Amino acid sequence: MKKIFKAILIFNCSLLIINSVDAQFTHQDTLRGSNGPERDWWDVVKYNITVNPDYIKKEIRGEVIIDFKTKATGKKIMQIDLQEPMVIDKVMFDGMDVEIKKDPPNVWQLTLLDIEPTMYIDKIEGGKGLTKKQYQTIQILFHGKPIEAKRPPWDGGWIFTKDVKGRPWMSVACQGLGASVWFPCKDYQGDEPDLGASLTMNIPDSLVAVANGRLKEKKSNNGTTTWTWEVKNPINNYNIIPYIGKYVNWKETYEGEKGKLDCSYWVLDYNLEKAKEQFKQVPLMLKAFEYWFGPYPFYEDGYKLIEAPHLGMEHQSAVAYGNGFKNGYRGRDLSGSAAGWGLKWDFIIVHESGHEWFANNITTIDIADMWVHEGFTNYSETLFTEYYYGKVAGSDYCIGTRKLITNDKPIIGPYGVNKEGSSDMYYKGGNMLHTIRQVINDDEKFRAILRGLNYKFYHSVVTTKQIESYMTEKSGKDLSKIFDQYLRTIMIPVLEYKFTGDNMYYRWSNCVKGFNMPVKLDGSKDDWLKATTEWKTVAVTTDILKDGLKIDRNFYITVKKVD
Ligand SMILES: [Zn+2]
Repeated sequence: MKKIFKAILIFNCSLLIINSVDAQFTHQDTLRGSNGPERDWWDVVKYNITVNPDYIKKEIRGEVIIDFKTKATGKKIMQIDLQEPMVIDKVMFDGMDVEIKKDPPNVWQLTLLDIEPTMYIDKIEGGKGLTKKQYQTIQILFHGKPIEAKRPPWDGGWIFTKDVKGRPWMSVACQGLGASVWFPCKDYQGDEPDLGASLTMNIPDSLVAVANGRLKEKKSNNGTTTWTWEVKNPINNYNIIPYIGKYVNWKETYEGEKGKLDCSYWVLDYNLEKAKEQFKQVPLMLKAFEYWFGPYPFYEDGYKLIEAPHLGMEHQSAVAYGNGFKNGYRGRDLSGSAAGWGLKWDFIIVHESGHEWFANNITTIDIADMWVHEGFTNYSETLFTEYYYGKVAGSDYCIGTRKLITNDKPIIGPYGVNKEGSSDMYYKGGNMLHTIRQVINDDEKFRAILRGLNYKFYHSVVTTKQIESYMTEKSGKDLSKIFDQYLRTIMIPVLEYKFTGDNMYYRWSNCVKGFNMPVKLDGSKDDWLKATTEWKTVAVTTDILKDGLKIDRNFYITVKKVD
């Protein structure tokens, strides 16, 4: 995963340092990050995963049944990802053993003989329309000691830990690293299983197992309980997650835009009372987000919030919660706003649930475009604040997070190699959206665009270009230069100005060619400067300009007086 390397070569007594930055992507990166020839001929319909975790040995053993569809015929090679040290033991297709070759360390090539084209359905409505004959099935047996996460959720892997009473607690966090850290799959965001996934966990009777979607089956035998959970909707692989521990549960029904939404909460037994109090924020979150983004995207699978042995993650219909039942981000206001807006609500409930719309409903094909997940979800924090505390509070929160922007590298990363761009995708992404909202200058239109995105790209995988084009089309304003500026460069546009006599001159600098974002004068009702990269002039007659140029603080720009 490390793309920046430093090699130190020592020849006799001389020291030669070769320092190569960011140009090194491996064959494995390409296999992992792109839709290569051993991936693009088949399309995942469903994952049925069974896992038997061994808490003492920190090992897992299991089986994945992959239903897929294809137009291909004859002999084909299928790329399956499973990261070392995990091992594929056996693969069956059409009742026959499949020849397995390995492209080390993480890619497995399965030779499938006699593929028959399946009836190909591009859009499956509500999970209906596929019969058994319309897809094919492979069965993969696997086992091993999966990589353990050392610092979840920032690195990935299995988590074999204990709760405060010393009882086993297991889960997984694997965003970025990928689900292939623990189960064999097509580890590529561009191909979500159209009909969802099931996860079956065989665990000791003394523990409880929870996963995405709804409980399909629970049965006990000889001290082992088998729990099967299932989602009916498309899901990102990294979101398919087991949670195993001493969980207790309560439920409620939320009356939402699409009707009754089943909400279910799972926490460790000793946290029940605290959780019942803190999770009262869930209906508030749902109300605000359905207002801004449209209906919760997974009514069929329900909404769940599950205590996790790490801070949190957007696991679809099974959101991971580890914020200590406190408001803020681990008790902190990320915006640092004077009024403490970020302490009025629980960061993990708001942020990770916001991802149900941006990340889980709308998913990017390539993680280079991950700003679509994190930028919009970061902005969901501002919109939540605004919904309950007003527009000024929302702006305070959003603007307050600017100090966390680093401008180290562009927000969009390199394509095709499973590589994210800058972590600025969060705060700068949110501030770019806030700036775009000012340019659109019509809050109802802006809200319609947010809802429209979730409707147009419902349960879809997208590119950043599709999102950019949609916003330009629906706003009626050409936003392309703004996206280029904030997503593809690290430059913060500078509005330069100077006074000469009774005139003010102004223009954009430190910007992409043709940058033309209009900006609003601070304190004005509707006075705009339609700046370009050429000097323009305006007569200094208004009161607003008399004390110098002040631009509405909601635009994320720099204003600079020049001589
Ligand atoms: Zn996030």
